[in-house]
Amino acid sequence: MKITVKDLSFAPFIPESAILERVAQIGQQISADYAGRVPLFLPILNGSFVFAADLLREVSLECRVSFVKHASYQGTTSTGQLKTLIGLNESIFNQDIIVVEDIMDTGLTLSKVIEELRSLGTRSVEIATLIRKAPAREHAVKPKYIGFDIDNEFVLGYGLDYEGLGRNLSAIYQQVPV
Ligand code: 5GP
Repeated sequence: MKITVKDLSFAPFIPESAILERVAQIGQQISADYAGRVPLFLPILNGSFVFAADLLREVSLECRVSFVKHASYQGTTSTGQLKTLIGLNESIFNQDIIVVEDIMDTGLTLSKVIEELRSLGTRSVEIATLIRKAPAREHAVKPKYIGFDIDNEFVLGYGLDYEGLGRNLSAIYQQVPV
């Protein structure tokens, strides 16, 4: 069923059941990959709060979580502007970091984040992104964990917004002509 958010129309794209199934698989994969370690998850606000909450509950390891945010949050479109992280109040020196992101579009945002984290002496840095859009597939930064590879559609729901709205939708929707 089509929904309207502000001036745009959206149609169901990835149902909640498929999201939860994939998130559970990623949680199990992380638990296997990081056995014997205590990773620090860094979900990037605002968009990744729903993914992070579900993912963390599928991880069966001892782990920590610290939410971070871009200093200049740009809303819904990729501007290509480089941003720095705020809210990092734990020492990340020698830590195994898993950055949790909602969506990778060009990959520019995450490449800056990865560079910043590495400069702080982390032991390892990997990315878990719920969605990777087509342009990011060409980017040098390769997430270790990817929920769904999609084309270039604009999506919302499950934490992702359009002008601040739609984050509370349980499924993921794609923009369709009005
Ligand atoms: P990148 O730096 O990878 O180009 O941009 C990633 C950011 O762009 C995401 O964190 C998100 O804020 C925004 N973004 C890119 N594509 C979409 C989309 O389809 N839907 C929503 N809601 N945000 C998007």
